[in-house]
Amino acid sequence: MTKRMLISGASIAGPALAHWLHRYGFAVTVVERAPGLRPGGQAVDLRGVGKEVVRRMGLDAAVRAACTDTRGMSYVDKNNRERAQMRADMFDGDGLIAEIEILRGDLAAVLYEATRHDVEYRFGDTITGIQQRDDGVVAEFASGATEEFDVVIGADGLHSGLRALVFGPESRYLRDLGYLLGFFTVPNRLELDHWMAGYAEPNYTAVIRSIRDNRAAMALLSIPGDRSDYDYRDVAGQKSLLRKNMRHMAWEVPWLLGQLDDAPDFYFDSCSQVHMPSWSAGRVALLGDAAFCASPISGQGTTLAIIGAYVLAGELAAADGDHATAFGEYERKLRDYVAANQQMGVDNAKRFAPRSRLGVWAQYQFARVLPHLPGKASFMRKMMQVINGIELPDYRHLLRTHPLSAR
Ligand SMILES: Cc1cc2nc3c(=O)[nH]c(=O)nc-3n(C[C@H](O)[C@H](O)[C@H](O)COP(=O)(O)OP(=O)(O)OC[C@H]3O[C@@H](n4cnc5c(N)ncnc54)[C@H](O)[C@@H]3O)c2cc1C
Repeated sequence: MTKRMLISGASIAGPALAHWLHRYGFAVTVVERAPGLRPGGQAVDLRGVGKEVVRRMGLDAAVRAACTDTRGMSYVDKNNRERAQMRADMFDGDGLIAEIEILRGDLAAVLYEATRHDVEYRFGDTITGIQQRDDGVVAEFASGATEEFDVVIGADGLHSGLRALVFGPESRYLRDLGYLLGFFTVPNRLELDHWMAGYAEPNYTAVIRSIRDNRAAMALLSIPGDRSDYDYRDVAGQKSLLRKNMRHMAWEVPWLLGQLDDAPDFYFDSCSQVHMPSWSAGRVALLGDAAFCASPISGQGTTLAIIGAYVLAGELAAADGDHATAFGEYERKLRDYVAANQQMGVDNAKRFAPRSRLGVWAQYQFARVLPHLPGKASFMRKMMQVINGIELPDYRHLLRTHPLSAR
């Protein structure tokens, strides 16, 4: 009988996993708490091996068509004068500004569009109970339904509800990196042309990038803090926290703070990682940020989610749905890669927001000299090794359908 897979979360990891599971012949249901696909979010990066997975999904063209085409970034002073520049075509497109940068909501839409005919999506619902049995797992839903599946996967993000149900409270697994980040859309008043501008004062950073062919811009504001400093349900409180902390800043920051109330979207979270001793328990496993969030500062969260989905689905197919074997292999193949990428997140966090004026100056100087260093600077070389540090297993012989053939 066709094995039934339930996935919680329809952002990046969930639909990517659904894509592969469907192609291996599993019946897939995705349950998403939001009433529809959630728009918004900063540009997320696809690097190295992640790009190869997207190619194997047959979605390379669709993803590239939806890219922000950001060509680079200027490090500016308070008068918006450029002090240093970083271009996207440095380091084969896998550098600090990645060649493939796509708004999170746009990538989610590409993945959803590629799967919605073959996968059952249930928006506006969540899993409220899990009972594991020898021959299956019974899921209870907020809608009141109860249904049995062979395997349940949590792809429901940093604050995963499924993880809380099966593995216990998030305080056991989350590690804060010391920043709170807010992302929101604003008018492109700097008239950035496929470009980013970043400004820093000690401990605080603001970045604006043009999006949607320069018709709008996306702001990122970063302040020091952790999960104890805000209530994740209180959006008005999160906005006031940004206002209170950043009101002393120069450049475009006063204007950005004035835009907060009119922003069509607003994403705010602690910059945290997830570290778990095991990514599965019985017939339930976790994927993406729910299992191994590396933090936005790692720049690798989306790549990890995409690669994780590829490996998890491939192992479930290779083991013919034998979840214990598949989950064991999934961890064995991914653990080291995830650990190295999470470490990169920790290292990046140390550099992200310099603590002093001297630190800000040094950050700008570094950006200035990096393009002129002979060969690749050692930390960039290390970054390339980390982001390409996994060999993708080949699961092609297990495929039942061709990409996009099932329409
Ligand atoms: C709206 C939004 C905006 C984001 N913006 C940024 C950004 O600007 N910068 C950045 O670096 N990262 C951002 N992220 C996180 C980024 O998408 C992830 O780090 C990465 O892409 C891995 O994706 P994921 O699918 O594992 O998790 P996520 O992208 O976090 O997706 C988790 C999904 O699960 C859903 N969900 C949560 N709880 C439940 C539940 N109990 N039941 C069912 N569904 C549930 C969420 O609504 C979401 O759709 C954003 C995520 C979201 C949801």
